[in-house]
Amino acid sequence: MFISQDDLEFDRQHIWHPYTSMTRPGPVFGVRDGKGVHLTLNDGRTVIDGMASWWSAVHGYRHPALDAALKAQVDTLSHVMFGGITHQPAITLARHLVALTPEGLDKVFLADSGSVAVEVAMKMAIQYWQARDKPGKHKLVSLRRGYHGDTTGAMSLCDPTTGMHELFSGSLLEQFFVPEPKCRFGESWNPADTQALEATLAEHHEQLAALILEPIVQGAGGMRFYHPEYLATARRLCDEYNVLLIADEIAIGFGRTGKLFACEHADISPDILCLGKALTGGYMTMAATLTTTHVANTISEGGAGCFMHGPTFMGNPLACSVANASIQQLLDMDWRAQVQRIEQGLNEGLAPARTLSGVADVRCLGAIGVIELETPVEMSRLQPALVEQGIWLRPFGKLVYMMPPFVITNDELATLTQTTCRVLLDYLSETRQP
Ligand SMILES: *Cc1c(COP(=O)(O)O)cnc(C)c1O
Repeated sequence: MFISQDDLEFDRQHIWHPYTSMTRPGPVFGVRDGKGVHLTLNDGRTVIDGMASWWSAVHGYRHPALDAALKAQVDTLSHVMFGGITHQPAITLARHLVALTPEGLDKVFLADSGSVAVEVAMKMAIQYWQARDKPGKHKLVSLRRGYHGDTTGAMSLCDPTTGMHELFSGSLLEQFFVPEPKCRFGESWNPADTQALEATLAEHHEQLAALILEPIVQGAGGMRFYHPEYLATARRLCDEYNVLLIADEIAIGFGRTGKLFACEHADISPDILCLGKALTGGYMTMAATLTTTHVANTISEGGAGCFMHGPTFMGNPLACSVANASIQQLLDMDWRAQVQRIEQGLNEGLAPARTLSGVADVRCLGAIGVIELETPVEMSRLQPALVEQGIWLRPFGKLVYMMPPFVITNDELATLTQTTCRVLLDYLSETRQP
């Protein structure tokens, strides 16, 4: 729908957008509608969405099967409390999740957003050790350059620097941090990479409930792809030191890295798994925290006698039904072949950026492509230039990155990568000679 100038001005005056100032808001583009990989902007221009709305819209916009599932569910039941009540969409979704996720993750908690799924995982880990009479094990250890969400518990686990911990010091839980993995995906493994993790576990395991990490791909904290052996070793060390392993696959679950879940790169199962973003194909806010029968039963037999969490919109039927349609669509479309195709397109299409002066690194994994610059991006210059050429990306820091919907065609992908490289060439040459 067209947005009036008056409404856009109201937006500027009254509506917070993610990480923005109310006194100096950046530009926002009105969007009229979306279809496939395209968004139509307020002035009628269309752009290719290279972000899949932050990892979520894996089937693009207005997918017929997802639209139909949501409409049918509206005609049946839009919401009902989950306390003492259940319904088919939630049961079907839990069946899918138990069947598809790594082995052993048999108990499903449906949460309302990724950050809440992380809070739920933290509480599960803490209640688990309480139930085992080890209340001293209530802290978590996290990796530097990690990102786990914006609620205060999740924030305490984000990289202390990019997560702005000093701003909230005194209000955040104090957790342990270890250096980020240095060995890159696809390069050779150096066992020294996990030494700091092992030292921290050895020294502090009596205080530690869990290790939390994003398997293989550190997302918002730097778009870094690391060696599967790090993950495999982390799993082994957690067992050795009696610390639970929480895998946060909120950004990368459901095929994005070339495996359905990134834990499969190291052939491991975590004790607790967080999912979100692509879970509903980007249609509704919903997330899930899965755990093992052992963890769930231990919590349930503990002092509290239950797990202490239960959001109002838990298991929302609209979100569950569109999640079911999204998962069914992924399975039907041969997601693996699509992601491989996109990986090849990104590798080829972004290769020219490697030779640009001002580019520090280009890397691709699955349906994720990253161009890392030598200096932070001037958003006010780069984003309008991209939009002008029909591309929607949202760079941050030094990173210009893309994770398009899986339905993107080879032609659209070529347009996305080639245009991005061309715009970047202009941007970088103007950066050098102002
Ligand atoms: C986005 C994200 C979250 C938080 O999810 P929200 O739905 O934004 O609350 C947590 N962890 C990771 C890895 C994410 O990418």
